[in-house]
Parts: sequence; C-alpha cells; structure tokens
Amino acid sequence: MRRLASVVSVAAVAIVVGVSAQTPGYLGGETSGFVGAEQDAAIKGPYSEPAEPFKILGNIYYVGAQNISSYLITTPEGHILFDTGMPQMHDVVRTNIETLGFQLSDIEIIISSHAHVDHVGGHAEMQRATGASIMAMGLDAQAIESGMDISPVQYHDWPAAPVARVLEDGDTVSLGGTTLRAMLTAGHTPGATTWVTNVEDGGRFYNVVFPGGRTPNGGPLVVGNPDFPDVAEITLETFSKLRLLNPDILLPGHPQGAFEGKIDAMKAGVRPHPLLETPGDWARGLEAGEANFRRRMEADRAKTQTP
Ligand SMILES: [Zn+2]
Repeated sequence: MRRLASVVSVAAVAIVVGVSAQTPGYLGGETSGFVGAEQDAAIKGPYSEPAEPFKILGNIYYVGAQNISSYLITTPEGHILFDTGMPQMHDVVRTNIETLGFQLSDIEIIISSHAHVDHVGGHAEMQRATGASIMAMGLDAQAIESGMDISPVQYHDWPAAPVARVLEDGDTVSLGGTTLRAMLTAGHTPGATTWVTNVEDGGRFYNVVFPGGRTPNGGPLVVGNPDFPDVAEITLETFSKLRLLNPDILLPGHPQGAFEGKIDAMKAGVRPHPLLETPGDWARGLEAGEANFRRRMEADRAKTQTP
C-alpha cells in the first residue's frame, strides 16, 4: 500500500511504525514510481559501490561511495559524520573511516543533507555502531524517525533511526572547536538542510558549504499538488536564502560531477584547492536553477488549470 503523502499524517504514522529492524543489504520498500527504473538502479547499484576515502581539506574527509557522499569531520573531541548514504553502504563508510585511521566509536554526531534514502538510509545502523547522536532539521527529523520519505518524490523508505536533537533554521552543531550552521533550505525535502562551516587549511580559511538539495525531484507537481500546496513558495524562498552564501568549496551529496578529474589532486594536497569555486559560479548556478524551477512551475500551472 502506498504511504500517505500528507505531512500531517507522518507524526501519527511514526508512532505506529516505531523503529524498524535493520535488514542487512536492505533494498526493500516500495518506490513511488517518480524515480525512473534506470535512476533507481543507479542509486542502488553503481552509486553505492565502494570508493577510496581521502582527505578533502582541513579536518574534512570523503568516506562515501562512488556517487553517494558521506563526509567525516574530525575534531579532538570526537567526530561528526555527515550523511550515511544508502542502507547497504554501511560497510563502505565504516571501512573508509577505519582505513583513514579513525575509530567508529569516536563518532559523536550524525547529521544529514536531507531525508532521502540515499543520504539517511544508513543512519540507523551507523547510530547503533557508533552510539552517536543523530541531529536533523524539523520535518526531516520526523522522516528519519519514521523511516519514511515525506518529500514530494516519496522515493523510498529506510530503516528508522532515533533523532536525539531536532534542529531549527540557523541552529549550530559544535564539537571540539568545529561549528557547523544548519540552514533550512526546504523544497527537495521539507527539512532539507544546507550546512555551512569555516575550515582552516594550510593557514587559509575556507567557507565550506554542504548543499541540502534545492528543488523537488522531477515528477510530482510543484503547483497544484494537494499534498504539497506550498512547495513552490518554499523552494523559491530557499533560492533566496542560498543567494546569501558565498562558498569557497561545495561538498555535494552526489559528488561524481564535482570531483571528476580532481580526486588525485585532492589526495596529493594540491593548492589552490581543486574544488575551489570560480567567483560568480554559485550565483550563476542559482540563477539558472531558479529559472528552470520557474519554468517547471509554469508548466505545472498550465497542467492543473481547468480549461
Ligand atoms: Zn534527494
């Protein structure tokens, strides 16, 4: 049976569902059909395949899979894990952390970009393996706790995981001298979070941004969708908020495009940093992204208008 889309229903459903048991190699659950078979197969297959871990800069390391990120942020008082990937990526992330010489038991906090299976699907097992506190934004915290995708795409469920701290827009997460600021950038999911931190590397400070996803996935209506009546306005507000940022380095949830041809240089510690943003690219990207989204809004408005 399809789950209910309405956000209002989630709290009630969460109580019934509780914390589900972890299934090793979990691939289960129904998908909404909005994500095409090819993309679904890519996410569950090649995107989740092992990748070598490496230091990105300062105290940030890549510990994710081929095209689904997990970032380790180390501090003298324990570590923060950003995104855990697909449920079946647990061994990939665990091995990568240990290969770099860090201990799973030193992970104190788990945070995330947004509550979709490919970013929080591994939370439950990683939380059990580390004893870390999961921290998540607003409605995405509810989604993580229920194991249900409550975003417009309703892609996939995942093993439910306990959230120790529910964040609000602008909250910070601090550990061992590192502070990350959580910006609510809803749209892709209702609690999508863009994280911002300042990282020292070789005597220089970098404004590092972990994007939380912008627009809802293609498929569901963004105008005239009874389950998500405000999603267009919320998404446009996210574009406005993102314009206030000025990232030096972007660390995305699906890194293949951004990292392409640059991994060897990152491993070698080449500076200027291989991921250093070209001035103006961020603003231009947002402009193009918002223009695309406005075209989508117009198309959906045309579809849902009564003739
Ligand atoms: Zn997503």
